[in-house]
Amino acid sequence: MSQQFLWSIKIRSRFGRRAPEICSEAGAIWGIGIANSRSSRSVGKGRRRGLCWIMPDTTNEIVGGCLCGACRYTTSAEPINVQACHCHECQKATGAPLYARVLVPLDSVRMSGPIGWFRSSPELRRGFCTNCGTSLFSERASANAIGLTMGSLDEPDAFAPTEHIWTSGMQAWLKFDDGFPQYPAASPV
Ligand SMILES: [Zn+2]
Ligand SMILES: [Zn+2]
Repeated sequence: MSQQFLWSIKIRSRFGRRAPEICSEAGAIWGIGIANSRSSRSVGKGRRRGLCWIMPDTTNEIVGGCLCGACRYTTSAEPINVQACHCHECQKATGAPLYARVLVPLDSVRMSGPIGWFRSSPELRRGFCTNCGTSLFSERASANAIGLTMGSLDEPDAFAPTEHIWTSGMQAWLKFDDGFPQYPAASPV
């Protein structure tokens, strides 16, 4: 079922000039001044009124972005796997006790915004927002794979890790009763 929203001034005040961009990234069709353009002009004082249609979600799109909203990403691919990595390198990179991430094909991801990259090993580089610092990606181009940080997903509960890797670096206070495999190093699979 499709939904229709009149975002108009509300979205403009929240996202400013980026509203059309955000709408199109969310899979919507954006139109400015389609309805009530005359009245909105008369009361507009520089504001423009628009309509934003959110199309039916048939693609199970994975969408996310950084804390400040400048960086966005989307993919319609099926995840390759969902893991929680406990290695100290991931702890450093994310500033978190563990790195939970959704791994998807690199060539399936569209990304935008001021993304910076840090190569933490010859095979792996990590993406972050250069404006707010949010950790967004771990990219392994040679395997056509990229990890999306679960904390940056718009729906952070959409996935759950199904295995713990590099538990040799797991922080001592963490206890899991999820029943999922724990591997001291990389996943053997
Ligand atoms: Zn940001
Ligand atoms: Zn790791």
